[in-house]
Amino acid sequence: MGYKDIKFPDGSKFLVTGSAGFIGSNLVEAILELGYKVRGLDNLSTGKKENVEEFLNHPNYEFIEGDIRSLDTCMKASEGIDFVLNQAAWGSVPRSIEMPLLYEEINIKGTLNMMEAARQNDVKKFVYASSSSVYGDEPNLPKKEGTEGNLLSPYALTKKVDEEYGKLYTKLYGLDTYGLRYFNVFGRRQNPNGAYAAVIPKFIKQLLNDEPPTINGDGKQSRDFTYIENVIEANLKACNASHEAAGQAYNIAFGGREFLIDIYTHLLNALGKDIQPIFGPKRKGDIKHSNADISKANKLLGYDPNWSFERGIEAAIEWYKRNLE
Ligand code: NAD
Repeated sequence: MGYKDIKFPDGSKFLVTGSAGFIGSNLVEAILELGYKVRGLDNLSTGKKENVEEFLNHPNYEFIEGDIRSLDTCMKASEGIDFVLNQAAWGSVPRSIEMPLLYEEINIKGTLNMMEAARQNDVKKFVYASSSSVYGDEPNLPKKEGTEGNLLSPYALTKKVDEEYGKLYTKLYGLDTYGLRYFNVFGRRQNPNGAYAAVIPKFIKQLLNDEPPTINGDGKQSRDFTYIENVIEANLKACNASHEAAGQAYNIAFGGREFLIDIYTHLLNALGKDIQPIFGPKRKGDIKHSNADISKANKLLGYDPNWSFERGIEAAIEWYKRNLE
């Protein structure tokens, strides 16, 4: 259970790309707490320096401001590294529909650069962020690896291509790669601002400010919302996984399913608010329901998440109340 007891060899060194973002900064924090060395790489495009400011003076932390679109930068960043946790990418399905070329450059070429640099630098494990969006229009629930449908956005395509490169790099070059298909992650430090912000932090911030949030569609869409602690566990367990488990992608979720309208009501109650939402049009590229079968990650990575949605949302609300109010 959890990740706090996982042991890596003394002096192990991790590289977290996208380290100034939501998931990356939480990975940095967790690894430092476990007592290992971390190098962060980020170009501060969607991430913020303030997310990692508190670690800048930590003796085990080093930050490189740079871009994964440069192979040279990726080579320098992965020098002397044992484990790469590649989180740098641009998220958001709707934004990728607006700017597909940029997504290709960052999410595909950038990840390929990192994989290639990891191979040349003899990195032990290359763990990378994929996404539940690779299931596309597959209607059956729960989603299970090997049952993907037609892709619905450039973002989903970039993650699918990353997974194909991951498979190839294990097969051709023996680099142990593990793709983690995150399902709607939430928790501390997730950005609540902007048109492309994720729904939970955005709603919390708007409600704290007494502004009515917009629900796209009827609110009856459901997602397997996954608390950040579970994602940290998955990354660290993948670093400890066997060679046999490499070259594959894994669902990383809690394995539950929450309806958006119920989350809205939950937030209203938790924050003591009485605000009617605005119902907007359904978003292009979005799917109606999502819920993960996590048995493959459980079996091959030992992933055994213990942060339910209810437990996670309480912790997230408390964090945003302290940090936004
Ligand atoms: P985020 O935007 O908070 O973090 C991404 C970080 O990558 C940012 O700090 C950004 O500045 C950095 N970055 C972007 N382009 C870069 C580049 N070219 N070079 C260097 N750094 C760059 O997003 P997040 O939610 O933390 O997502 C992390 C990863 O997880 C991404 O790969 C995302 O696609 C994936 N993912 C996230 C979710 C989720 O629910 N948050 C779900 C599925 C997949």
